[in-house]
Amino acid sequence: MSFRTGFPFLLASVLLSTAGFAQPKPAPAAAADPLHAWVLGSDPAALETWVNQRLAAEKADLEKLLAVTGPRTVENTLRPFDDAQNELAIANNNAYLQYSLADAAPLRDKGQALLSTISSEATDLSLNQKVYNALAAVPLPTGDPAARHYLERTLLEYRLSGVDKDDATRAALRALQDKITALSLTFGRNVADGTLKVTATKADLDGLPADYVALHKPGPDGTYTLTTEQPDVGPVLSFAKSADLRRKVYLAYNQRAYPANVQVLRDLLTARQQLATTLGYAHYADLATADQMIGTAANVEHLIDQVDQASRPVAAHEYAQLLAFAQKQQPGLTSISQSDQSYWVEQYRRAQYAFDAQSVRPYFPYAEVQTGILKTAARLFHVSFKQVKDAQVWDRSVDSFDVFDAAEAGQGKLLGRIYLDMHPRDGKDKWFSSAPVLPGIAGRQLPEGMLVCNFSGGAAGDPGLMQYNEVVVFFHEFGHLMHHILGSQGPWSGQGGFSVEGDFVESPSQMLEEMFHDPAILQSFGKHYQTGEVLPASLIAKMNAASAYGRGRWLQGQLWATTYSLEVHNQAPAGLDFDALLKADDERFSPFTPVEGDRFYASFTHLTGYASNYYTYVLDKVIAIDFFAQFDKHNLLDGPTAMRYRRAVLEPGASKPAAQLVKDFLGRPQSMDALKSWMSEEFQAPAVASK
Ligand SMILES: [Zn+2]
Repeated sequence: MSFRTGFPFLLASVLLSTAGFAQPKPAPAAAADPLHAWVLGSDPAALETWVNQRLAAEKADLEKLLAVTGPRTVENTLRPFDDAQNELAIANNNAYLQYSLADAAPLRDKGQALLSTISSEATDLSLNQKVYNALAAVPLPTGDPAARHYLERTLLEYRLSGVDKDDATRAALRALQDKITALSLTFGRNVADGTLKVTATKADLDGLPADYVALHKPGPDGTYTLTTEQPDVGPVLSFAKSADLRRKVYLAYNQRAYPANVQVLRDLLTARQQLATTLGYAHYADLATADQMIGTAANVEHLIDQVDQASRPVAAHEYAQLLAFAQKQQPGLTSISQSDQSYWVEQYRRAQYAFDAQSVRPYFPYAEVQTGILKTAARLFHVSFKQVKDAQVWDRSVDSFDVFDAAEAGQGKLLGRIYLDMHPRDGKDKWFSSAPVLPGIAGRQLPEGMLVCNFSGGAAGDPGLMQYNEVVVFFHEFGHLMHHILGSQGPWSGQGGFSVEGDFVESPSQMLEEMFHDPAILQSFGKHYQTGEVLPASLIAKMNAASAYGRGRWLQGQLWATTYSLEVHNQAPAGLDFDALLKADDERFSPFTPVEGDRFYASFTHLTGYASNYYTYVLDKVIAIDFFAQFDKHNLLDGPTAMRYRRAVLEPGASKPAAQLVKDFLGRPQSMDALKSWMSEEFQAPAVASK
């Protein structure tokens, strides 16, 4: 995601080169469906023609905007601007869909190339002085707060792009943006391609799960070769009894893009710094926070201090418990190293809570989980879902549902459509995400959104047993979809749920994660796939207790990453010593002994996408926990709070500043109090857990 181009349609796009702007060809006859490119099938040329039609329509909207001769108004200027945004968003979302989901490689490649073209078009628009001057000439409407906010925010984004600079400066800004994009791609590619290998003996693998060992065949000399790919690394750090193997794998993982990325990172930070100073900011962190909820880099430091004060004593207590436990197992141990952290936490959780994550999987077969999540969401958000059996979709496995308003005043109104693309297939993106398909415009265009996941199941004979954390991820992503559908019922396509400030967008979904500790909700769909037995309350209690341990440490770890991401962006990059910064960060936030040779920063990919704004995770956690604390714990779904939440936080979409949404729901700004209770939360014992 791009923090600089504040235009919402870029949210779902990946970092793409913005070079090589292609002038769209004149539009031929209108396509049958101007909203869904996938109905055209798998012909890349047809996709290109379709996208070019959207870009031509965008250009026509801008011409209409510029052709106005009389006084500028919301209707004759902001409206065609929003129409242009809508066309760009539809083009972007459809190109992104083919890039990330199409079966055929040529179609995916075409999707990627078109995303680049669209991104370039967006950059042009963000530096277009005529459009900016036209928008700036619209008197701020007094009786229409949403339109006023839209106008003010759009003008702010324009200024942050540098639209009011002279021609030479704008050309330089554009070149810097291109450079930043290219360096970000190189950084990411070096991480993805930088696989290292570690050799292990049979004895080194002691403690690892049998299926892990079975997947690795020994070489002729009897040794095993492990790589720095995630499936190899995670189990070693959590389960391998050999501290030596854990250290080797930890180091290799954190060195996989070192030294290649040191210069790339320095060049990236330099280009960002140049961009910031050209735009009149002292540092990039000031620029990157200027259009966010947090407002300034100084406020990020304040947030770090506040969360540090709240979490430090809890984290210290948790570490003392962990060290005491480890010392019992291994007398003489004086401290725990960073490469041994996961191992000891895993051992501690097993011993303390007798919880094995594998034991709940049989209660979460995919199909039942999907039904359960739809039912839970329907009750919570006061909507209903109706499967669209004959919907034309991009793959046979995709389910689609129409969403209807089930609130009393809603009178069963159709609100939009969602698509669930939930299982892996060849060529499909490997992540778990949700993305808009169509923005909503009241009376003209219903919002549509999709979930793209890679859960097991979906094939005949495979029950698709899910891990508990996968069930939580499903609900998290589903929360983004509901925010999009409910928040996109207003008059402007650029004010949907996905268009809120980037540092607020995770709050609603993180809030939903907390709901899934509730026994009543989990038991409403958690049933054994063979026996039908309801997920036992005792198992839920153990699971919740195990998950509550380590929250203080988790927050300190988030502050560690937050501080690093901020500090490489709030000072001149020329003299930055990445290793010294890491050391200082470790000393401040980690009780674990650093591992000599750790080059974490060389593969810290958030430095490309989030830049200085890793704090987003911490801020949204604070807000999410505060939101959740407003719900009645004994009646999460059916109490009055759910509807109040829908009205105050989700339905406004981006028609208000996010800070206002928080105040409207809480009656005050967010505070640290709920987070403090959350950290020291002890879940109730099985005997009193509600049914
Ligand atoms: Zn999310």
